Amino acid sequence: MSASAGAKTKVTALPGDGIGPEVMAATMKILAEAGAPIEWEVAEAGAEVFKKGSVTGVPRETLDSIAANGLAIKSPLETPVGYGGKSANVTLRKYFELYANIRPVRELPGIQTPYTGRGIDMVIVRENVEDVYAGIEHMQTTTVAQCLKLMTAPGCERIIRAAYGLAQAEGRKQVMVATKANIMKLTEGMMKRMGEKVAPEFPDIKSGHIIIDNCAHQLVIKPEAFDVIVTSNMNGDIISDLAAGLVGGLGIAPSSNLGDHAAMFEAVHGSAPDIAGKGLANPTALLSAAIMLLRHIGSFEVAATVEQALFITLAEGKNLTGDLAPRGHGVGTDAFTGQIIDNLGRFSTMPTREYKPFELKTWPELTAHMEPDTRELVGIDVFLETDLRAEELGRQLQAIAQDSPFTLSGISNRGVSVFPPTGGQTFLVDHFACRFMFKHPIPLLASKSEGQAEISYLVQRIGAKFTWMHIEKLQRFDGKDAFERPQGEG
Ligand code: NAP
Repeated sequence: MSASAGAKTKVTALPGDGIGPEVMAATMKILAEAGAPIEWEVAEAGAEVFKKGSVTGVPRETLDSIAANGLAIKSPLETPVGYGGKSANVTLRKYFELYANIRPVRELPGIQTPYTGRGIDMVIVRENVEDVYAGIEHMQTTTVAQCLKLMTAPGCERIIRAAYGLAQAEGRKQVMVATKANIMKLTEGMMKRMGEKVAPEFPDIKSGHIIIDNCAHQLVIKPEAFDVIVTSNMNGDIISDLAAGLVGGLGIAPSSNLGDHAAMFEAVHGSAPDIAGKGLANPTALLSAAIMLLRHIGSFEVAATVEQALFITLAEGKNLTGDLAPRGHGVGTDAFTGQIIDNLGRFSTMPTREYKPFELKTWPELTAHMEPDTRELVGIDVFLETDLRAEELGRQLQAIAQDSPFTLSGISNRGVSVFPPTGGQTFLVDHFACRFMFKHPIPLLASKSEGQAEISYLVQRIGAKFTWMHIEKLQRFDGKDAFERPQGEG
Protein backbone atom coordinates (compact mmCIF):
# COMPACT_ATOMS: atom_id res chain seq x y z
CA MET A 1 0.00 0.00 0.00
CA SER A 2 2.64 2.56 -0.86
CA ALA A 3 1.81 5.76 -2.68
CA SER A 4 3.66 6.10 -5.96
CA ALA A 5 4.48 9.62 -7.20
CA GLY A 6 1.40 11.40 -8.44
CA ALA A 7 -0.97 8.57 -7.55
CA LYS A 8 -3.54 9.15 -4.84
CA THR A 9 -4.55 6.56 -2.27
CA LYS A 10 -8.26 6.26 -1.57
CA VAL A 11 -9.13 6.35 2.12
CA THR A 12 -12.58 6.03 3.65
CA ALA A 13 -13.19 8.92 6.07
CA LEU A 14 -15.78 8.61 8.83
CA PRO A 15 -16.48 12.10 10.25
CA GLY A 16 -18.43 10.48 13.09
CA ASP A 17 -20.28 12.18 15.93
CA GLY A 18 -20.02 15.21 18.21
CA ILE A 19 -16.74 17.03 17.55
CA GLY A 20 -15.88 14.36 14.95
CA PRO A 21 -16.84 16.35 11.83
CA GLU A 22 -14.91 19.39 13.11
CA VAL A 23 -11.65 17.54 13.82
CA MET A 24 -12.02 15.60 10.55
CA ALA A 25 -12.43 18.81 8.53
CA ALA A 26 -9.37 20.32 10.23
CA THR A 27 -7.30 17.19 9.55
CA MET A 28 -8.33 17.03 5.90
CA LYS A 29 -7.51 20.70 5.43
CA ILE A 30 -4.00 20.33 6.90
CA LEU A 31 -3.30 17.21 4.85
CA ALA A 32 -4.51 18.90 1.66
CA GLU A 33 -2.24 21.89 2.33
CA ALA A 34 0.68 19.53 2.98
CA GLY A 35 0.09 17.80 -0.37
CA ALA A 36 -0.92 14.42 1.08
CA PRO A 37 -1.53 11.95 -1.76
CA ILE A 38 -4.95 10.95 -0.45
CA GLU A 39 -8.40 10.93 -2.00
CA TRP A 40 -11.11 10.85 0.66
CA GLU A 41 -14.26 8.79 0.35
CA VAL A 42 -16.55 10.13 3.07
CA ALA A 43 -18.87 7.57 4.69
CA GLU A 44 -21.36 7.42 7.54
CA ALA A 45 -21.18 5.62 10.89
CA GLY A 46 -22.32 6.29 14.43
CA ALA A 47 -25.25 8.03 16.10
CA GLU A 48 -27.20 9.11 13.00
CA VAL A 49 -26.99 5.59 11.62
CA PHE A 50 -28.22 4.09 14.90
CA LYS A 51 -31.12 6.55 14.88
CA LYS A 52 -32.15 5.22 11.46
CA GLY A 53 -32.63 1.81 13.10
CA SER A 54 -29.26 0.16 12.42
CA VAL A 55 -28.11 -2.24 15.15
CA THR A 56 -24.43 -1.98 14.25
CA GLY A 57 -24.14 1.77 13.63
CA VAL A 58 -22.22 1.04 10.43
CA PRO A 59 -24.16 0.87 7.15
CA ARG A 60 -23.33 -1.67 4.45
CA GLU A 61 -22.02 1.07 2.09
CA THR A 62 -19.46 2.10 4.73
CA LEU A 63 -18.28 -1.49 5.23
CA ASP A 64 -18.02 -1.88 1.44
CA SER A 65 -16.05 1.35 1.12
CA ILE A 66 -13.52 0.29 3.82
CA ALA A 67 -13.30 -3.21 2.34
CA ALA A 68 -12.58 -1.77 -1.12
CA ASN A 69 -10.05 0.83 0.06
CA GLY A 70 -8.50 -1.22 2.87
CA LEU A 71 -7.94 2.07 4.71
CA ALA A 72 -10.09 4.24 6.94
CA ILE A 73 -9.71 7.24 9.18
CA LYS A 74 -12.34 7.57 11.83
CA SER A 75 -13.50 10.34 14.13
CA PRO A 76 -15.11 9.36 17.43
CA LEU A 77 -18.40 7.51 17.25
CA GLU A 78 -20.95 7.72 20.05
CA THR A 79 -21.94 4.48 21.67
CA PRO A 80 -25.71 4.77 22.05
CA VAL A 81 -27.20 4.62 25.50
CA GLY A 82 -30.84 3.59 25.54
CA TYR A 83 -31.19 3.02 21.79
CA GLY A 84 -29.39 1.21 18.96
CA GLY A 85 -27.30 -1.86 19.52
CA LYS A 86 -23.60 -2.54 19.81
CA SER A 87 -20.69 -0.09 19.69
CA ALA A 88 -19.99 0.95 16.08
CA ASN A 89 -16.28 1.08 17.00
CA VAL A 90 -16.31 -2.54 18.10
CA THR A 91 -18.31 -3.50 14.99
CA LEU A 92 -15.60 -2.06 12.77
CA ARG A 93 -12.75 -3.65 14.72
CA LYS A 94 -14.37 -7.08 14.66
CA TYR A 95 -15.76 -6.96 11.12
CA PHE A 96 -12.33 -6.27 9.65
CA GLU A 97 -10.46 -8.34 12.28
CA LEU A 98 -8.33 -5.31 13.14
CA TYR A 99 -6.30 -7.31 15.62
CA ALA A 100 -3.39 -4.94 16.24
CA ASN A 101 -4.09 -1.74 18.13
CA ILE A 102 -1.03 0.50 17.94
CA ARG A 103 -0.83 3.32 20.47
CA PRO A 104 2.24 5.57 20.21
CA VAL A 105 2.99 7.48 23.40
CA ARG A 106 5.48 10.30 22.95
CA GLU A 107 6.21 13.42 24.91
CA LEU A 108 4.96 16.36 22.82
CA PRO A 109 6.68 19.75 22.80
CA GLY A 110 4.92 22.44 24.78
CA ILE A 111 2.63 20.03 26.63
CA GLN A 112 3.65 20.24 30.26
CA THR A 113 3.19 17.13 32.39
CA PRO A 114 4.94 15.85 35.54
CA TYR A 115 7.10 13.80 33.12
CA THR A 116 8.19 16.63 30.84
CA GLY A 117 11.83 16.27 29.83
CA ARG A 118 12.02 12.55 30.53
CA GLY A 119 11.95 11.68 26.82
CA ILE A 120 9.00 9.28 26.88
CA ASP A 121 8.74 7.69 23.45
CA MET A 122 7.13 4.25 23.29
CA VAL A 123 4.51 2.28 21.43
CA ILE A 124 1.96 0.01 23.05
CA VAL A 125 0.84 -2.84 20.82
CA ARG A 126 -2.45 -4.20 22.12
CA GLU A 127 -4.15 -7.35 20.89
CA ASN A 128 -7.53 -6.01 19.87
CA VAL A 129 -10.00 -8.83 19.27
CA GLU A 130 -9.43 -11.74 21.69
CA ASP A 131 -9.22 -12.14 25.48
CA VAL A 132 -12.23 -11.29 27.66
CA TYR A 133 -13.31 -8.76 25.01
CA ALA A 134 -14.73 -11.57 22.91
CA GLY A 135 -17.70 -10.86 25.20
CA ILE A 136 -18.63 -14.50 25.80
CA GLU A 137 -20.50 -14.22 29.07
CA HIS A 138 -23.03 -16.40 30.84
CA MET A 139 -24.79 -16.18 34.17
CA GLN A 140 -23.94 -19.53 35.72
CA THR A 141 -26.36 -19.21 38.61
CA THR A 142 -28.25 -16.14 39.76
CA THR A 143 -25.23 -15.22 41.88
CA VAL A 144 -22.33 -16.16 39.61
CA ALA A 145 -21.38 -14.55 36.28
CA GLN A 146 -18.78 -16.00 33.96
CA CYS A 147 -16.76 -14.42 31.15
CA LEU A 148 -14.60 -16.59 28.94
CA LYS A 149 -11.05 -15.40 28.40
CA LEU A 150 -10.12 -16.85 25.03
CA MET A 151 -6.57 -16.46 23.81
CA THR A 152 -5.26 -18.35 20.81
CA ALA A 153 -1.84 -19.36 19.55
CA PRO A 154 -2.30 -17.59 16.18
CA GLY A 155 -3.78 -14.56 17.98
CA CYS A 156 -0.70 -14.33 20.22
CA GLU A 157 1.73 -15.02 17.39
CA ARG A 158 0.39 -12.39 15.04
CA ILE A 159 0.33 -9.62 17.67
CA ILE A 160 3.87 -10.44 18.78
CA ARG A 161 5.07 -10.46 15.17
CA ALA A 162 3.27 -7.14 14.67
CA ALA A 163 5.21 -5.71 17.64
CA TYR A 164 8.56 -6.83 16.23
CA GLY A 165 7.62 -5.64 12.72
CA LEU A 166 6.74 -2.25 14.13
CA ALA A 167 9.95 -2.12 16.19
CA GLN A 168 11.98 -2.76 13.02
CA ALA A 169 10.02 -0.18 11.01
CA GLU A 170 10.54 2.49 13.65
CA GLY A 171 14.15 1.61 14.51
CA ARG A 172 13.18 0.63 18.04
CA LYS A 173 15.52 -1.43 20.17
CA GLN A 174 13.39 -3.27 22.72
CA VAL A 175 10.18 -5.33 22.79
CA MET A 176 8.67 -6.23 26.17
CA VAL A 177 5.87 -8.78 26.34
CA ALA A 178 3.62 -7.81 29.27
CA THR A 179 1.38 -10.55 30.68
CA LYS A 180 -0.25 -11.96 33.78
CA ALA A 181 1.30 -15.38 33.03
CA ASN A 182 2.16 -15.93 36.69
CA ILE A 183 -1.56 -16.36 37.44
CA MET A 184 -3.19 -17.33 34.11
CA LYS A 185 -0.64 -19.87 32.97
CA LEU A 186 -2.55 -21.15 29.96
CA THR A 187 -4.06 -17.94 28.50
CA GLU A 188 -1.61 -15.18 29.42
CA GLY A 189 1.09 -17.84 29.56
CA MET A 190 0.46 -18.52 25.89
CA MET A 191 1.35 -14.90 25.06
CA LYS A 192 4.53 -15.16 27.15
CA ARG A 193 5.59 -18.45 25.55
CA MET A 194 4.88 -17.09 22.08
CA GLY A 195 7.07 -14.10 22.86
CA GLU A 196 9.89 -16.47 23.85
CA LYS A 197 9.39 -18.48 20.65
CA VAL A 198 9.41 -15.49 18.29
CA ALA A 199 12.14 -13.36 19.98
CA PRO A 200 15.18 -15.32 18.69
CA GLU A 201 14.15 -14.39 15.11
CA PHE A 202 14.95 -10.76 15.99
CA PRO A 203 18.46 -10.84 17.50
CA ASP A 204 18.97 -7.09 16.97
CA ILE A 205 16.08 -6.26 19.26
CA LYS A 206 16.32 -6.68 23.02
CA SER A 207 13.42 -8.89 24.09
CA GLY A 208 11.96 -9.37 27.52
CA HIS A 209 8.93 -10.25 29.57
CA ILE A 210 7.35 -8.22 32.36
CA ILE A 211 4.40 -9.03 34.58
CA ILE A 212 1.65 -6.57 33.69
CA ASP A 213 1.20 -5.12 37.18
CA ASN A 214 4.91 -4.43 37.44
CA CYS A 215 4.69 -2.95 33.93
CA ALA A 216 2.03 -0.50 35.17
CA HIS A 217 4.27 0.35 38.12
CA GLN A 218 7.37 0.85 35.95
CA LEU A 219 5.35 2.96 33.49
CA VAL A 220 4.72 5.42 36.29
CA ILE A 221 8.20 5.20 37.85
CA LYS A 222 10.44 4.99 34.77
CA PRO A 223 8.37 5.33 31.56
CA GLU A 224 11.36 6.39 29.47
CA ALA A 225 12.78 2.86 29.85
CA PHE A 226 10.08 1.39 27.57
CA ASP A 227 10.26 1.19 23.80
CA VAL A 228 7.64 -1.32 22.53
CA ILE A 229 5.22 -3.09 24.87
CA VAL A 230 3.07 -5.88 23.45
CA THR A 231 0.20 -7.25 25.48
CA SER A 232 -3.23 -8.84 25.51
CA ASN A 233 -6.48 -6.96 25.03
CA MET A 234 -7.51 -6.02 28.56
CA ASN A 235 -3.97 -5.38 29.81
CA GLY A 236 -3.42 -3.20 26.75
CA ASP A 237 -6.67 -1.33 27.21
CA ILE A 238 -5.59 -0.27 30.68
CA ILE A 239 -1.89 0.44 30.22
CA SER A 240 -2.35 2.31 26.94
CA ASP A 241 -4.65 4.81 28.65
CA LEU A 242 -2.27 4.98 31.60
CA ALA A 243 0.65 5.69 29.25
CA ALA A 244 -1.34 8.33 27.33
CA GLY A 245 -1.88 10.07 30.67
CA LEU A 246 1.87 10.41 31.14
CA VAL A 247 2.26 12.63 28.07
CA GLY A 248 -0.86 14.78 28.21
CA GLY A 249 -3.92 12.57 28.19
CA LEU A 250 -6.35 10.90 25.86
CA GLY A 251 -7.30 14.17 24.16
CA ILE A 252 -4.08 14.17 22.13
CA ALA A 253 -3.56 10.40 21.69
CA PRO A 254 -3.79 8.72 18.28
CA SER A 255 -4.06 5.04 17.44
CA SER A 256 -4.22 2.67 14.54
CA ASN A 257 -6.05 -0.62 14.25
CA LEU A 258 -4.41 -2.97 11.80
CA GLY A 259 -5.52 -6.24 10.25
CA ASP A 260 -4.65 -8.35 7.24
CA HIS A 261 -7.21 -6.68 5.00
CA ALA A 262 -7.77 -3.21 6.41
CA ALA A 263 -6.27 -0.52 8.62
CA MET A 264 -8.21 2.09 10.55
CA PHE A 265 -6.72 5.21 12.11
CA GLU A 266 -8.44 7.16 14.87
CA ALA A 267 -8.26 9.56 17.78
CA VAL A 268 -8.46 7.88 21.16
CA HIS A 269 -10.80 10.48 22.67
CA GLY A 270 -14.57 10.44 22.32
CA SER A 271 -17.09 12.76 20.67
CA ALA A 272 -16.97 15.39 23.48
CA PRO A 273 -20.65 16.30 23.07
CA ASP A 274 -20.29 19.26 25.48
CA ILE A 275 -18.17 21.21 22.99
CA ALA A 276 -19.57 19.74 19.75
CA GLY A 277 -20.50 22.26 17.06
CA LYS A 278 -18.83 25.15 18.93
CA GLY A 279 -15.62 25.22 16.92
CA LEU A 280 -13.52 24.58 20.04
CA ALA A 281 -12.28 21.01 19.49
CA ASN A 282 -8.59 20.20 19.36
CA PRO A 283 -7.79 18.16 16.23
CA THR A 284 -4.32 17.02 17.45
CA ALA A 285 -5.30 13.40 18.10
CA LEU A 286 -6.97 12.83 14.74
CA LEU A 287 -4.20 14.71 12.96
CA SER A 288 -1.64 12.47 14.69
CA ALA A 289 -3.67 9.45 13.55
CA ALA A 290 -3.56 10.87 10.01
CA ILE A 291 0.25 11.11 10.32
CA MET A 292 0.26 7.39 11.18
CA LEU A 293 -1.93 6.79 8.11
CA LEU A 294 0.50 8.71 5.90
CA ARG A 295 3.36 6.51 7.09
CA HIS A 296 1.24 3.42 6.58
CA ILE A 297 0.82 4.31 2.90
CA GLY A 298 4.52 5.07 2.57
CA SER A 299 4.13 8.85 2.42
CA PHE A 300 6.96 9.47 4.89
CA GLU A 301 7.94 12.96 3.79
CA VAL A 302 4.45 14.42 4.01
CA ALA A 303 4.04 12.68 7.38
CA ALA A 304 7.23 14.34 8.66
CA THR A 305 6.18 17.75 7.31
CA VAL A 306 2.79 17.59 9.05
CA GLU A 307 4.30 16.18 12.25
CA GLN A 308 6.92 18.93 12.42
CA ALA A 309 4.30 21.63 11.78
CA LEU A 310 2.27 20.20 14.68
CA PHE A 311 5.35 19.97 16.94
CA ILE A 312 6.42 23.55 16.27
CA THR A 313 2.88 24.84 16.77
CA LEU A 314 2.69 23.12 20.13
CA ALA A 315 6.23 24.19 21.07
CA GLU A 316 5.67 27.87 20.28
CA GLY A 317 2.30 27.85 22.01
CA LYS A 318 0.71 30.41 19.67
CA ASN A 319 -2.95 29.87 18.76
CA LEU A 320 -3.60 26.70 20.76
CA THR A 321 -7.09 25.36 21.45
CA GLY A 322 -8.56 25.92 24.91
CA ASP A 323 -7.62 22.50 26.25
CA LEU A 324 -3.89 23.22 25.60
CA ALA A 325 -3.60 27.01 26.05
CA PRO A 326 -3.30 28.85 29.37
CA ARG A 327 -6.73 29.68 30.78
CA GLY A 328 -8.47 32.39 28.76
CA HIS A 329 -5.97 32.24 25.89
CA GLY A 330 -7.43 29.42 23.83
CA VAL A 331 -8.49 29.83 20.22
CA GLY A 332 -10.94 27.83 18.13
CA THR A 333 -10.33 24.80 15.91
CA ASP A 334 -10.00 26.97 12.78
CA ALA A 335 -7.33 29.27 14.19
CA PHE A 336 -5.29 26.33 15.53
CA THR A 337 -5.62 24.57 12.17
CA GLY A 338 -4.54 27.74 10.37
CA GLN A 339 -1.50 28.00 12.65
CA ILE A 340 -0.42 24.45 11.80
CA ILE A 341 -0.87 25.20 8.10
CA ASP A 342 1.24 28.34 8.46
CA ASN A 343 3.94 26.21 10.07
CA LEU A 344 4.08 23.59 7.29
CA GLY A 345 7.70 23.48 6.10
CA ARG A 346 9.17 24.59 9.44
CA PHE A 347 11.03 22.17 11.69
CA SER A 348 10.98 21.90 15.46
CA THR A 349 13.83 20.88 17.75
CA MET A 350 12.04 17.58 18.34
CA PRO A 351 13.21 15.15 15.67
CA THR A 352 10.95 12.95 13.60
CA ARG A 353 11.94 9.30 13.92
CA GLU A 354 13.38 7.43 10.96
CA TYR A 355 10.45 5.33 9.74
CA LYS A 356 10.57 2.45 7.29
CA PRO A 357 7.57 0.72 5.70
CA PHE A 358 5.78 -1.61 8.07
CA GLU A 359 3.56 -4.28 6.67
CA LEU A 360 1.82 -6.92 8.70
CA LYS A 361 2.47 -10.52 7.83
CA THR A 362 -0.63 -11.88 6.07
CA TRP A 363 -2.07 -15.03 7.57
CA PRO A 364 -3.46 -17.96 5.58
CA GLU A 365 -7.24 -18.07 5.39
CA LEU A 366 -7.92 -21.36 7.07
CA THR A 367 -9.35 -22.43 10.36
CA ALA A 368 -6.34 -22.48 12.63
CA HIS A 369 -5.71 -25.95 14.03
CA MET A 370 -2.69 -27.80 15.42
CA GLU A 371 -3.10 -31.50 16.12
CA PRO A 372 -0.89 -32.87 18.92
CA ASP A 373 0.87 -36.21 18.39
CA THR A 374 -1.05 -37.75 21.26
CA ARG A 375 -4.24 -36.78 23.02
CA GLU A 376 -5.75 -38.41 26.10
CA LEU A 377 -9.04 -37.81 27.87
CA VAL A 378 -8.23 -37.88 31.57
CA GLY A 379 -11.41 -36.54 33.18
CA ILE A 380 -14.12 -33.91 33.26
CA ASP A 381 -15.00 -30.85 35.32
CA VAL A 382 -18.73 -30.60 35.96
CA PHE A 383 -19.90 -27.13 37.00
CA LEU A 384 -23.02 -27.39 39.08
CA GLU A 385 -25.31 -25.28 41.24
CA THR A 386 -26.10 -26.17 44.82
CA ASP A 387 -26.39 -24.52 48.21
CA LEU A 388 -24.95 -27.56 49.99
CA ARG A 389 -21.75 -27.19 51.99
CA ALA A 390 -18.66 -28.60 50.29
CA GLU A 391 -18.26 -31.68 52.50
CA GLU A 392 -21.85 -32.79 51.99
CA LEU A 393 -21.60 -32.19 48.23
CA GLY A 394 -18.36 -34.19 48.14
CA ARG A 395 -19.94 -37.06 50.02
CA GLN A 396 -22.91 -37.19 47.62
CA LEU A 397 -20.76 -36.93 44.48
CA GLN A 398 -18.41 -39.67 45.74
CA ALA A 399 -21.45 -41.92 46.08
CA ILE A 400 -22.61 -41.02 42.54
CA ALA A 401 -19.18 -41.80 41.06
CA GLN A 402 -18.75 -45.03 43.00
CA ASP A 403 -19.78 -47.53 40.30
CA SER A 404 -18.61 -45.38 37.37
CA PRO A 405 -15.31 -45.23 35.45
CA PHE A 406 -14.51 -42.01 37.37
CA THR A 407 -13.30 -40.98 40.80
CA LEU A 408 -14.12 -37.60 42.32
CA SER A 409 -10.70 -36.00 42.63
CA GLY A 410 -11.82 -32.68 44.12
CA ILE A 411 -14.26 -29.80 44.25
CA SER A 412 -13.46 -26.12 43.94
CA ASN A 413 -15.44 -22.95 44.49
CA ARG A 414 -14.41 -19.82 42.52
CA GLY A 415 -11.15 -21.61 41.71
CA VAL A 416 -10.27 -22.53 45.31
CA SER A 417 -10.12 -26.17 46.37
CA VAL A 418 -12.80 -26.88 49.00
CA PHE A 419 -13.00 -30.70 48.92
CA PRO A 420 -11.31 -32.77 50.19
CA PRO A 421 -11.33 -30.26 53.06
CA THR A 422 -8.23 -28.05 53.14
CA GLY A 423 -8.88 -26.13 56.34
CA GLY A 424 -9.03 -22.88 54.27
CA GLN A 425 -11.61 -20.18 54.99
CA THR A 426 -13.24 -20.00 51.56
CA PHE A 427 -16.48 -18.06 51.21
CA LEU A 428 -18.79 -20.33 49.23
CA VAL A 429 -21.13 -19.42 46.41
CA ASP A 430 -23.64 -21.76 44.79
CA HIS A 431 -21.33 -22.69 41.91
CA PHE A 432 -18.97 -25.64 42.28
CA ALA A 433 -16.47 -27.11 39.82
CA CYS A 434 -16.41 -30.86 40.47
CA ARG A 435 -13.43 -32.68 39.02
CA PHE A 436 -13.88 -36.33 38.06
CA MET A 437 -10.83 -38.21 36.79
CA PHE A 438 -11.05 -41.35 34.69
CA LYS A 439 -9.77 -44.37 36.61
CA HIS A 440 -8.03 -45.27 33.35
CA PRO A 441 -7.25 -42.30 31.02
CA ILE A 442 -8.61 -42.87 27.53
CA PRO A 443 -6.37 -42.32 24.50
CA LEU A 444 -8.29 -40.26 21.95
CA LEU A 445 -7.89 -41.67 18.50
CA ALA A 446 -8.83 -40.25 15.11
CA SER A 447 -12.56 -39.93 15.81
CA LYS A 448 -11.92 -38.40 19.27
CA SER A 449 -15.30 -39.80 20.31
CA GLU A 450 -13.91 -42.24 22.89
CA GLY A 451 -15.17 -41.69 26.43
CA GLN A 452 -18.47 -40.07 25.46
CA ALA A 453 -20.63 -42.91 26.75
CA GLU A 454 -18.83 -42.82 30.10
CA ILE A 455 -19.26 -39.05 30.37
CA SER A 456 -22.98 -39.27 29.49
CA TYR A 457 -23.47 -41.95 32.14
CA LEU A 458 -21.86 -39.85 34.86
CA VAL A 459 -23.52 -36.59 33.86
CA GLN A 460 -26.93 -38.23 33.78
CA ARG A 461 -26.41 -39.52 37.30
CA ILE A 462 -25.27 -36.09 38.49
CA GLY A 463 -28.18 -34.42 36.63
CA ALA A 464 -30.69 -36.60 38.46
CA LYS A 465 -29.71 -34.84 41.71
CA PHE A 466 -28.12 -31.51 40.78
CA THR A 467 -28.49 -28.70 38.25
CA TRP A 468 -25.30 -28.60 36.19
CA MET A 469 -24.37 -25.70 33.88
CA HIS A 470 -21.49 -26.96 31.82
CA ILE A 471 -18.84 -29.60 31.46
CA GLU A 472 -15.19 -29.16 30.56
CA LYS A 473 -13.25 -32.11 29.20
CA LEU A 474 -9.84 -32.56 30.79
CA GLN A 475 -7.31 -33.56 28.16
CA ARG A 476 -3.61 -34.24 27.99
CA PHE A 477 -1.86 -33.11 24.79
CA ASP A 478 1.49 -34.80 24.03
CA GLY A 479 1.63 -36.05 27.62
CA LYS A 480 1.03 -32.59 29.17
CA ASP A 481 -2.06 -31.60 31.15
CA ALA A 482 -4.18 -29.15 29.11
CA PHE A 483 -5.85 -27.75 32.21
CA GLU A 484 -4.92 -26.00 35.43
CA ARG A 485 -5.37 -27.15 38.99
CA PRO A 486 -7.47 -25.14 41.45
CA GLN A 487 -5.74 -23.04 44.09
CA GLY A 488 -4.91 -25.14 47.14
CA GLU A 489 -5.29 -28.55 45.49
CA GLY A 490 -2.73 -30.95 46.87
P1 NAP B 1 -14.75 12.31 25.44
O1 NAP B 1 -15.67 12.48 24.31
O2 NAP B 1 -13.34 11.98 25.10
O3 NAP B 1 -14.80 13.68 26.21
C1 NAP B 1 -14.38 13.92 27.52
C2 NAP B 1 -13.96 15.39 27.63
O4 NAP B 1 -12.62 15.51 27.14
C3 NAP B 1 -14.75 16.35 26.77
O5 NAP B 1 -15.93 16.70 27.39
C4 NAP B 1 -13.77 17.47 26.62
O6 NAP B 1 -13.65 18.10 27.89
C5 NAP B 1 -12.46 16.74 26.45
N1 NAP B 1 -12.09 16.45 25.06
C6 NAP B 1 -12.07 15.23 24.45
N2 NAP B 1 -11.61 15.35 23.19
C7 NAP B 1 -11.33 16.65 23.00
C8 NAP B 1 -10.82 17.39 21.91
N3 NAP B 1 -10.47 16.80 20.74
N4 NAP B 1 -10.68 18.72 22.04
C9 NAP B 1 -10.97 19.33 23.20
N5 NAP B 1 -11.44 18.69 24.27
C10 NAP B 1 -11.63 17.37 24.18
O7 NAP B 1 -15.29 11.20 26.45
P2 NAP B 1 -16.77 10.84 26.90
O8 NAP B 1 -17.49 12.10 27.28
O9 NAP B 1 -16.59 9.78 27.89
O10 NAP B 1 -17.49 10.21 25.64
C11 NAP B 1 -18.41 10.91 24.79
C12 NAP B 1 -18.89 9.97 23.68
O11 NAP B 1 -17.79 9.53 22.90
C13 NAP B 1 -19.60 8.71 24.19
O12 NAP B 1 -20.73 8.47 23.37
C14 NAP B 1 -18.58 7.61 23.97
O13 NAP B 1 -19.19 6.39 23.71
C15 NAP B 1 -17.85 8.12 22.74
N6 NAP B 1 -16.46 7.61 22.62
C16 NAP B 1 -16.05 7.22 21.39
C17 NAP B 1 -14.74 6.78 21.21
C18 NAP B 1 -14.30 6.36 19.83
O14 NAP B 1 -15.03 6.55 18.89
N7 NAP B 1 -13.12 5.77 19.68
C19 NAP B 1 -13.84 6.77 22.29
C20 NAP B 1 -14.29 7.22 23.55
C21 NAP B 1 -15.61 7.64 23.70
P3 NAP B 1 -14.01 19.57 28.27
O15 NAP B 1 -14.50 20.32 27.11
O16 NAP B 1 -15.03 19.38 29.33
O17 NAP B 1 -12.71 20.06 28.79
